[in-house]
Order: sequence, then C-alpha cells, then structure tokens
Amino acid sequence: MRNRGAAEGIVAVRRVVQGFFLGFILLVGTRFALFIRYVEGEAVFSSLAQRSPGVEGFLPIGALVSLKHWLQSGQIHPVHPAALVIFLTICLICLLARKGFCSWLCPVGTLSEWAHRLGRRLWGRNFRIWRWLDLPLRGGKYLLLLFFVKLILLDMPGEAVAAFLASPYWAVSDIKMLHFFTRMSLTTLTVHLALTGLSLFYANFWCRYLCPYGALLGLLSLASPFRIRRDIEGCTGCRRCSAACPSFLPVHVKKEVRSPECTGCLSCVAACPERAILQMALPFRREPLPLFVYPATVLLLYGLGIGAGMLTGHWQSSLTLADYQRLLPLLDLLAH
Ligand code: SF4
Ligand code: SF4
Repeated sequence: MRNRGAAEGIVAVRRVVQGFFLGFILLVGTRFALFIRYVEGEAVFSSLAQRSPGVEGFLPIGALVSLKHWLQSGQIHPVHPAALVIFLTICLICLLARKGFCSWLCPVGTLSEWAHRLGRRLWGRNFRIWRWLDLPLRGGKYLLLLFFVKLILLDMPGEAVAAFLASPYWAVSDIKMLHFFTRMSLTTLTVHLALTGLSLFYANFWCRYLCPYGALLGLLSLASPFRIRRDIEGCTGCRRCSAACPSFLPVHVKKEVRSPECTGCLSCVAACPERAILQMALPFRREPLPLFVYPATVLLLYGLGIGAGMLTGHWQSSLTLADYQRLLPLLDLLAH
C-alpha cells in the first residue's frame, strides 16, 4: 500500500493554498473598494485604501486587447499592464504545468469546488449531466473562447486596439468590475445564484461548461509535459481514481491523462490505494516524482511571472490618484 498520508496530505495542502489565495484576492478587492471610497472623498483608513494591480486579474478581456497591442507594437500598454502580466503568467503555468492554475489558485475554481463539496454533503453525491448532453455543453466554453479570439485577436483593427487602451472606458474598467460584484444588478445576481445552484448539483459547472479562460488554458495544457500516468501492470482496476476525479475522466483506463479537462488537482493520485501506481509524471522520467514537485512548479511559475512583470516595470498602472478623481464622476457615462 502506498503512503496514504502523503497523498492525502497533498490534497489538504491544495485546499490550504486555494483558501490562502482566495483570502488574498478578497483582501486585494477590499482594499480596492476602500481606495475607491477614498477617491470619492469618504473618510477611510488611507493605509488600507490601496489599489493593488492584482485587481487587474479580473480583466481578462481587456488583457486580450492588451495582448494584441503588445504583439502589434512590441510595447506593453501602461494602463493596467498587470492585466496582461497576470494573463500571460496564467497561460505560462498551463502551458508548462497543465491547468494547475484552475485547481490550485483560481478563486472562481475554489468557490466552485466548495459549492460541489457542499452539494455532495447535502445530496450525498454529485450528479452528472447525461453524456449525450455533456459533450455539446462542454463545447460552450470553446465557442465563447472562439468568439473573443475572433472579435479581439483576429478582427479588431490596430487603431481600435490603441483607441480602446487609451480610452477612459479601459481606465475605469477595474472600478466597473468592482461594481459588478458590489453593486450587482438583479440580472447579475440571478445569474450568480443560478450558477451557484447548478454547482451544488454538478461539479465545476461554470468551469466545465462556460469558462472561456478555462477553455484556453485547457488547450494550452495539451503542450504541458506534466500528466497523470498510470502503471498498467500494478493497477488493480478498482476505479477509485475515476470516482475521485471532479472532471469525470476515466483515469482507470488511461495510461496517461492528456485531456484538456484535467486540472492537475491530484485527487485521483490521493484516491489510489496502491503505492506509486498513479502519479503526476514527466515523460522523460520513469521514477515517481516527489508529490510536492507539481504544485511547487505551479506556484513557482506564478511567482516568476508576476515577479518578471514587477521587475520590468509592467505592474503598476500609469493612472494616478488624480486620474481616478477625474474619471470617477464620469463612471455612469462611461459604463455604456
Ligand atoms: S485526472 Fe486526476 S488530476 Fe486530472 S482532474 Fe482528474 S482527479 Fe484531477
Ligand atoms: S485507483 Fe489506482 S489501482 Fe485503482 S484503478 Fe485507479 S490507478 Fe488503478
């Protein structure tokens, strides 16, 4: 029997990392909300009211426009450069270390996972959408990805890209994103509640069927050298790995899991009762990798990407406090 403690420990470590990262994002968001109140002239603790460039992680569509600008001009646009840095960092993680961002760091992925774990407690199990419906529904996120890629990367003219990035609309997009969460319209609230409700029944409903970011990361992850590898000789066919997989992958019949749906969560590895039969592996190494190598790679790549953005001066936005004070009263006009 394998060292069950170590394998289960890695799942516990993942949950701690997820919780830490979610808490960090909430802190960044809270400080940004206080910053906006400070800009509005309200009395808040100015030491808490800080705008961290991390908020730009919630601007992936703008990041795509910024990416096009970078590819065309060779320059990273100075307004909200962290949006592009975070986007490229996440892409790099998935290119090299599967969809590790989704299962180890993404706050939406964490909330989605909490919802389906709660659902399992409430109903005793998670449900699965019929296979004939599951496959076309999974195509939804690829269609959304195709829509954004066509709209921005393929069809948007260079002048329109430059005009968008220089516009007040892009400048205040971080505030609009904040208000998307703090001043939800009835429609937004209804959609959030519906997605949460569906996630209680169906594991990772948003990630599996709708997230275009996840679709892109899944495609990039096909190039990753990391993959779950099963030793066919030693496998007893107990199917515990497949039962534990939140992406419903048939791990117990695969020699290697290469699916773009694999998030590198290691739940299958933790569930396998046999010693070193199932592991996150690299193609050029036959021996089992120490369990910590894969998550350490994900976290290291994240740190390297963000660090590179900071060190090269592409982290802080060029917008000043005076810019925010000038633009904030215009927010409603800029929202449409
Ligand atoms: S195959 Fe394993 S690592 Fe991949 S999603 Fe399923 S449980 Fe997670
Ligand atoms: S849990 Fe392990 S032993 Fe059981 S089917 Fe999966 S790989 Fe084979």
